[in-house]
Amino acid sequence: NTFADIDLGDALNKNIQRCKYVKPTPVQRHAIPISLAGRDLMACAQTGSGKTAAFCFPIISGIMTGQPAQRPPRGAHTVYPLALILSPTRELSIQIHEEARKFSYQTGVRVVVAYGGAPINQQLRELERGVDILVATPGRLVDLLERARVSLQMIRYLALDEADRMLDMGFEPQIRKIVEQMDMPPPGARQTMLFSATFPKEIQRLASDFLAKYIFLAV
Ligand code: AMP
Repeated sequence: NTFADIDLGDALNKNIQRCKYVKPTPVQRHAIPISLAGRDLMACAQTGSGKTAAFCFPIISGIMTGQPAQRPPRGAHTVYPLALILSPTRELSIQIHEEARKFSYQTGVRVVVAYGGAPINQQLRELERGVDILVATPGRLVDLLERARVSLQMIRYLALDEADRMLDMGFEPQIRKIVEQMDMPPPGARQTMLFSATFPKEIQRLASDFLAKYIFLAV
């Protein structure tokens, strides 16, 4: 019933202590072990439930303990993140980025954020310095993909946060376009987590299209 009971590794555990998290919230208690076991997950979680840590911890842990990525050599302006966190708004993306940076402190895992409504140049410079986890809004990410500044070919982890809100905002075409670019061989190489406060038909359809034999979690 504490984070020490979950095998997240020393560096991450230290950061969890720094954040003064002692007890996992219900969504964390269930989602983290499921994700660490490699399963896809669709979780019902509200704002304030601690869902950010629920998807960040397994991603950071997985990048730290997984096989070193054989990324193409740097240059040609294209970067190859290993994890993508999609969120509906600039505000939420900034918030996720700030938390993910605290969680990944001294782990070597690099987190970059890219959102619309802000000049792209600063974000391009951040990306060029290297990125493992990209936090992005769908529109800005499509822009980066079209400019060939980001490639999703190496994505191992995909988290969709507040998926219902993304659909309400009309992002479904962008989300589908983004996920299509990850559906490269080998199949099953990507682990996906879908978080949503509500589960209308549209979200269930996204889950069956993007997730593989997923576990449904409602807390
Ligand atoms: P979230 O639902 O991810 O936006 O998190 C809501 C707030 O709860 C944020 O301020 C988190 O930093 C905080 N939080 C998340 N998990 C925990 C935890 N296990 N213990 C204490 N605070 C937490």
